[in-house]
Amino acid sequence: MSQIFVTRRYRFCAAHRLHTDLLSPEENWAAFGKCNNANGHGHNYVVLVTIRAGTAESSTNLDSLDRLVTDTVIERFDHQDLNSDPAFSALTTTGENLVAVIWDILNPLLPAGRLDKVGVIETRDNYFEYTGAR
Ligand SMILES: [Zn+2]
Repeated sequence: MSQIFVTRRYRFCAAHRLHTDLLSPEENWAAFGKCNNANGHGHNYVVLVTIRAGTAESSTNLDSLDRLVTDTVIERFDHQDLNSDPAFSALTTTGENLVAVIWDILNPLLPAGRLDKVGVIETRDNYFEYTGAR
């Protein structure tokens, strides 16, 4: 059966530092390089949310998706330090973890099976994509 998907693009700016207390300072530096700098650094994150679209008879309500993503993800992370967010109390703020955290925020709030994937563009060259458990 054919399926149409719709992707919406959102943006937020946030600071973070790649660091884990499980590693020594030297091991953190080896693992994360300059991203382990104690002063942190920022990114202009782009979040791509892909959902299974409605049919011609029941078009996709993008306004409600926009409200949901804005209220639960963008307002939560925009102009914040990701390391201070409770979602990252036991997780490093890598792109891999961030994209999974955003999926875990959105997926329970959407009808079952509606969310297809979440993407996070962290830098010009880094894109992370997560499709959750299927
Ligand atoms: Zn970074």
